[in-house]
Amino acid sequence: MRMLLVDDSVTMRRIQKTQINSLGITDILEAGDGQEALGKLKSNMPIDMVLLDWNMPIMDGMAFLKTVRADAAFKDVKVIMCTSESEKSKVVEALKSGANNYIVKPFTPEALKEKIGL
Ligand SMILES: [Mg+2]
Repeated sequence: MRMLLVDDSVTMRRIQKTQINSLGITDILEAGDGQEALGKLKSNMPIDMVLLDWNMPIMDGMAFLKTVRADAAFKDVKVIMCTSESEKSKVVEALKSGANNYIVKPFTPEALKEKIGL
C-alpha cells in the first residue's frame, strides 16, 4: 500500500508516519499543503490512500479533496480526513465532498487501522 501523508506540520507528519509504519506500511509520501500533494499524487500513482489535514496554507484539505474528486484518474484513491477535535462538526461536509472516512488527530495506530479497513 502506498500512502500520501498531507499535513503542514512537520511534527504531525513525523508522529503520523511512525504510527503508519507500526502498521507495516512503509511506502509513504509526504506533502506540506494541498498543492504539493496534488503534484505528488499526479507523479506517484498508484497511490492507495491519502491522509489529509484540513487547515493548511496555499491549498487546504477541502480544496484538495474537491480537486481530486473532480478527476476520474483518482477515483480509486481513498481519502481520510484528519481533523482536530474542534473540527469534528465539519466532517459531514468532507464526507459529502467525497472523503471516504475521517479520523480525529492525534490518532493511535489501532484507530487508524480501523478507519482504513486493514
Ligand atoms: Mg494543519
